[in-house]
Amino acid sequence: MSYYLDGTEIEIIKEADLGKVKHALFDFDGTISLIRDGWQNVMVPMMVEILAKTQTDETKEELKAIVIEFVDRLTGKQTIYQMIQLCEEVEKRGGVPLEPLEYKQMYNERLLPTVNDRIAKLESGEVDKAELLLHGSMDFLRKLRDREVKLYLASGTDVEFVKHEADILGITPYFTGGVFGAVKEYKTYSKAMVIQKILADYNLSGSQLLIVGDGFVEIENAKAVGAVAVGVASVENNMFGMNANKRLRLINAGADIIIPDYSDQDRLLEYLFQDGDRVPGEEIRSLSRR
Ligand SMILES: [Mg+2]
Repeated sequence: MSYYLDGTEIEIIKEADLGKVKHALFDFDGTISLIRDGWQNVMVPMMVEILAKTQTDETKEELKAIVIEFVDRLTGKQTIYQMIQLCEEVEKRGGVPLEPLEYKQMYNERLLPTVNDRIAKLESGEVDKAELLLHGSMDFLRKLRDREVKLYLASGTDVEFVKHEADILGITPYFTGGVFGAVKEYKTYSKAMVIQKILADYNLSGSQLLIVGDGFVEIENAKAVGAVAVGVASVENNMFGMNANKRLRLINAGADIIIPDYSDQDRLLEYLFQDGDRVPGEEIRSLSRR
């Protein structure tokens, strides 16, 4: 039975093995950064356009439904996987697709004006950083660092973009464990691989790793290794209503905890680190020393 921590929007789905977290891996887009918010508004129409040029007699509405389904399902993995699926859909309809990488470049070119516009406004001071960060994320990262948790950033967006955007948002210094993202040799990278490497490098048990993300992929990866999984059911602005049931999808992926953003971060930290169990003991010890 799930419940909310008193007076908060923190929903506890199941009781994880808590109080042991030493490392934390964050997804980027939709989990921390809002710079690429609305990317679906670019990807979906582009793909519908491409599929409509094949022999198909499906209507644009029908194609849109198909595109929405697979784009949504593959979110969180590297963008190239959405493009690989697009190629398969073109082939299924008798078309000859371009290379997945060419479609990805086309998508990046179309998304770039929006992203660059937001970055320019950020740099000129017209827009405040806080507007492009999920509420409370910077403070949450700082508090985790203060608790000596080593932080990692792992995204399905191209790594050079992720690094640049993390820099601009001023969050790079928190990620002493590294900033990871999609690479051209896409088979050499996945969030699951980063997770495996962290566990191996530090010889961790799953419950020593916290994974925070708004995508099915990273939450599923988290549960595969027994990590503590916080699903971020952030609101996305896309015209297709995609991810409207994000909370439910994150729960289905195996999230232990669901939050809408980091508004109730102190309570979340208390819960994750089981401060309630620890602090009274420490108080008793310090009293007895006096
Ligand atoms: Mg995300």
